[in-house]
Amino acid sequence: MRDTPMDAADAIREQGFRRWYERQLIEGHAWLVTGFLSLILTAIAIEVISFGESIGGMLVLLAVGAGGAALCLYAWLRFNRQLFLAEHVAEQATCGACRTYGKLAIVSASRDASAVQGRSIRVRCRKCGHEWAIR
Ligand SMILES: [Zn+2]
Repeated sequence: MRDTPMDAADAIREQGFRRWYERQLIEGHAWLVTGFLSLILTAIAIEVISFGESIGGMLVLLAVGAGGAALCLYAWLRFNRQLFLAEHVAEQATCGACRTYGKLAIVSASRDASAVQGRSIRVRCRKCGHEWAIR
């Protein structure tokens, strides 16, 4: 799996806004589940250590525990970032002219340092043709 999520503009162009949004939620929650499982893995590793192991076994358990903790933190950050971005874009996905939600076509995407993803996405309403920018 790639480290950074596909650029939102490219993904929305490819999948359409609604499918993109749905996938962000599904992937975000998959990361949440991953975080929980790795937290459990960490807890089990720590629990087993206290039963008294050989040095080698203890080192393995410590490594499993540390790996689980790192994965848990990473998954938690991914979950937050993905859901934040999905909500941020969704909040701007309603047409200002006809109030239609999520029926938009990408017109263009340009660099914008002040936008959340570093890109400003120009979109057009599929219903009435009104254009606006998602930043
Ligand atoms: Zn519209």
